[in-house]
Amino acid sequence: MKKDIIIDFDGVLFHTGEATLSWLEKHYQIEIPRGNYTCGSSLHNLVSKHLPPNSPQIDEYELYELIGKEFLASMECHNNILPLEYSQEVVRILSQDYTLHVATARLTLGRDVVKTMLDNFFPDCISSIHHVWHIEEDGKFYATTKKTFIDRLKNPLFFIDDSPREIEEVFGSVKTILLDPENHHTNMTGMNHRVNTWEQILDITGN
Ligand SMILES: [Mg+2]
Repeated sequence: MKKDIIIDFDGVLFHTGEATLSWLEKHYQIEIPRGNYTCGSSLHNLVSKHLPPNSPQIDEYELYELIGKEFLASMECHNNILPLEYSQEVVRILSQDYTLHVATARLTLGRDVVKTMLDNFFPDCISSIHHVWHIEEDGKFYATTKKTFIDRLKNPLFFIDDSPREIEEVFGSVKTILLDPENHHTNMTGMNHRVNTWEQILDITGN
């Protein structure tokens, strides 16, 4: 039986950071300086930090619902987003020997966008897509964590993510690879693997 590799979406398969920040800037009429480390930090904190002084506070769930509806579910907002360097080549190779799954924190509201982007750039490579967050009819947010998803798989081998927090959450369930293209996490120890490029992922997975 093929082993499973679980791959994050934002910042691992696709360069989505800039589009996300631009959307937030436009919507909240704020400026977010680039180059600051943002991966894994909460978008709510990021927006709150850059609001003009004395602005009314922004409700966290409203913000995520709005992002879900107007950014994550909008194909137009994703038209110019490209995959990470070599990700297409490496994912294609890995898909021959492993069963590949995408696990994303994105709300299920954006399911069609995620699927379309994977179909366009990684055709016939991804077996399943897991979304952590969904909004139920009662308007509340519910999560099925990446760890829960991984623990349900028969043969999980590697989990690849760009967030140390997500990596730490799955320790004990699967071997991990932290993809850290800009060397934000050189001080992180205890990670199974930390790499900068998709080519290095290919080395680790034994191809
Ligand atoms: Mg990510």
